[in-house]
Amino acid sequence: AKQLASRVTTLSPSTTLAITAKAKEMKESGIDVIGLGAGEPDYNTPDHILEAAWRSMKEGKTKYTPSGGLPALKDAVIEKLKNDQGIAYSRSEVMIGIGAKHVLYTLFQTILNPMDEVIVPAPYWVSYPEQIKLAGGEPVVVQATKEAEFKVTAAQIEQAITPKTKALILNSPGNPTGMVYTEDELEKIAEVCKVQDIWIISDEIYEKLVYGTAKHVSIATLSDDAKQRTFIINGVSKSHSMTGWRIGFIAGDEEVVKAMTNLASHSTSNPVTTSQYAAIEAYNGSQDAVEMMRKDFGSRLERIYPQVQAIPGFHVVKPQGAFYLLPDVSEAITHTGYDDVDAFAKALLEEANVAVIPGTGFGSAETIRLSYATSIDLLEEAVRRIDTFVKEKW
Ligand code: PLP
Repeated sequence: AKQLASRVTTLSPSTTLAITAKAKEMKESGIDVIGLGAGEPDYNTPDHILEAAWRSMKEGKTKYTPSGGLPALKDAVIEKLKNDQGIAYSRSEVMIGIGAKHVLYTLFQTILNPMDEVIVPAPYWVSYPEQIKLAGGEPVVVQATKEAEFKVTAAQIEQAITPKTKALILNSPGNPTGMVYTEDELEKIAEVCKVQDIWIISDEIYEKLVYGTAKHVSIATLSDDAKQRTFIINGVSKSHSMTGWRIGFIAGDEEVVKAMTNLASHSTSNPVTTSQYAAIEAYNGSQDAVEMMRKDFGSRLERIYPQVQAIPGFHVVKPQGAFYLLPDVSEAITHTGYDDVDAFAKALLEEANVAVIPGTGFGSAETIRLSYATSIDLLEEAVRRIDTFVKEKW
């Protein structure tokens, strides 16, 4: 009678959290561990945003808001989508949620019936398959190879579609790949989704973090049809270094957004009121800090990428966005004698004192994920340690 529900017992534990917890434990016992596991920018939230949050509290704006978010924040999101993407939405097509993660969770709960399939390109963000399963759906993983720059093609998606397919997830710039889909690639994908009549879920949380000549294109901007079948998911976590504030949004089909808002009204109610006022300032205020952070991440990438590429047995596709490197380390594993990427990552932590995330949880068993959301000095020291570790065992 006291058993756990099967919905939680079949959840996979987060590999990201397991390594991070172990690294923290080692740090607390005095070991000098360098963590490259971070999934968040290493800056504080910009001052003008903090001040707006404080002002709103002093003005007594500390009560419930509408479950789907403050009209003023929806308007700020609508304005952002108009300026950045050039597409128009109305308030009834936008919902504010508790981070992009919970917005995605609520979306899957809203559109999936038991056994409905969702196409998930791998390497993927760890939470997609689990959230789909929690909604009773089936993740259908389509593998993108290193040779294809970790991007799936329209033909691969077409092949994976069945009569049960409800949606495709796209995540560009991608976590953990750092890859950015081109307009041409997205056009072909949009065409397949149109012919097969499926939803597109476009997770654009790393939109602002693109480097070099890469350009972020939202698939929703490609045609009227693409706009109507796409849900844009985004938020302030990565762009404005606001991961702890928990504000994300969805823009898309009115009927779905209305049902999601209804669901939120019975589960979470509104996202934290103070956070919503902070997010209004994030979108309506100066974007200087966003650009400063982007430039800084870009220069770290330029510094660190060749150094990681030079580690024996590491092969890295140069990322164009987000703040992760995803080296294929299969050759290094073979030469250092480990069984798999989990054992390799464990040894890196215990012996070289560098925490990285094994790709197993991302559907990518040959890779490790290194986050460069940390200072350049620590990054270079971490790479030296990994390099020494691999050379000593080779
Ligand atoms: N989507 C991707 C691909 C992410 O990497 C993350 C955060 O790690 C999220 C969504 C969730 O972001 P949020 O902090 O807005 O919930």
